[in-house]
Amino acid sequence: MKAQVLPSVDIVSVFNQQKAYQYTQRITTARERIDQLRKLQKGLGTIQYELIEAMSKDLERPVFETVVFEHLGLIKIIDETCENLEKWMEPEIKPSSIKSDANIEIRYESRGVVLIIGPWNFPFLLVLEPLVAAIAAGNTVIAKPSEMTPNVSKVVKNLISSVFEPKFVAVIEGGIPETTELLALPFDHIFFTGSPTIGKIVMAAAAKNLTSVTLELGGKNPFIVDAEANLEKAAQTLIHKTTINAGQLCLSPDYGLIHHSQVTQFVALARKAIKKMYYSEGKYAEQDSSKIINQKNYNRLKSLFGDAVEKGATIVAGGIFDDQKLRIEPTLLTKVAPNSKILEEEIFGPIFPILTYDTIWEAIEYVNSKPKPLALYLFSDIEENTENVIKMTSSGGVCINEAFVHALDYRLPFGGVNNSGVGSYHGKFGFMELSHAKSIFYDQSKEADTMMAPPFEGKLEQLTNAQ
Ligand code: NAD
Repeated sequence: MKAQVLPSVDIVSVFNQQKAYQYTQRITTARERIDQLRKLQKGLGTIQYELIEAMSKDLERPVFETVVFEHLGLIKIIDETCENLEKWMEPEIKPSSIKSDANIEIRYESRGVVLIIGPWNFPFLLVLEPLVAAIAAGNTVIAKPSEMTPNVSKVVKNLISSVFEPKFVAVIEGGIPETTELLALPFDHIFFTGSPTIGKIVMAAAAKNLTSVTLELGGKNPFIVDAEANLEKAAQTLIHKTTINAGQLCLSPDYGLIHHSQVTQFVALARKAIKKMYYSEGKYAEQDSSKIINQKNYNRLKSLFGDAVEKGATIVAGGIFDDQKLRIEPTLLTKVAPNSKILEEEIFGPIFPILTYDTIWEAIEYVNSKPKPLALYLFSDIEENTENVIKMTSSGGVCINEAFVHALDYRLPFGGVNNSGVGSYHGKFGFMELSHAKSIFYDQSKEADTMMAPPFEGKLEQLTNAQ
């Protein structure tokens, strides 16, 4: 039998402080929560340089991607939340549908004490973005950033401790032991971003306390190009979106399904796009790309690539690995054997296998033979193909003639389905995910309703006659 994990005194102390403080936070007004979010936003304004430096140490991330995705993106999310929060918090009150002298109300109350566990690939944004939603919904929060990006984890810790008291928002740093200790506590909600494998551990731990969960997971995102698609746009989009953060992105296109009649031209255009985006005078411009996070993941990617090539894949672009710098040049593979490991596990790197198909139904069948992905991308101008793909496949989200951008539009819920996730957030959906929609029934009659109470004789007839 496994020994029970006991949380450390420090972790239990923060948790208990938050348990006691949660009701103070729950009754805050929209104005007060907006003030808290603006305080966080002000703090963000002071750490941009620190964040760029930490991101550069942990991931060698280009400054552009750090600023755009992790910093400016977050500032915009806070603006959007502050502008709409009052409206989101408004209770919905209407007449009851079952009784003339009663009203009903749906009130969004905080869940309580929320645990946020973040991944390493967007180690700042993916802790702070759920935090914004959790604060908006009136919760207290313990956040656990990824141990794989220790410099960014420090920035998160320093930022949070400079703007909030630990009884409201606290950061616990650490890896598996600390996360396991946290997971042993009866949180009111757990918001986890990471892999499906660890998502299952989180969900099993949550089940012990029947804690609700949001699981933002990953998977293999198909990129389908049909017989009449705009190939130039498709190829450029693919190369851009599959190499952001060196492909270490949950929304990265993971494999291509290109109509057999288009594949030669598509590959030529994709090679051209790689050259334009990543090469200057024939030399790989590594300043515009991140490195692979660590040796373990680099070895994993090298082995996926090696396995595919060994089984007959053709390298049509890239295939150049720098063992010292942990860098991989954007790589395209064709003629990949169906039993290649690269077609089984999430790649999470700048290597892209291209498969072909004859009819759109064949592509749909292939997608449906895999676990449900986080996103599906289709390049098509044929309405029938678009509708069939949307209707007959299941994925967290879909982009038609684009990739990744659906996650940036805050009017859309963002999340996976089954293997790629449980629940969703962004904008109002995040507020709702981190709230409990409480049903309230206000009865205004003076007398008890005995219509449904015994004795039942004659009541069924009365009820049916009244219908
Ligand atoms: P991961 O699952 O390895 O780790 C995530 C978190 O879980 C980390 O904080 C880590 O400390 C903790 N953890 C790791 N092992 C654990 C264990 N045994 N017990 C308890 N906690 C543990 O994920 P990752 O490698 O950091 O991130 C990559 C994965 O995340 C990819 O699958 C990617 O697709 C996914 N992801 C999803 C989204 C999304 O929004 N859907 C965003 C980013 C990343």
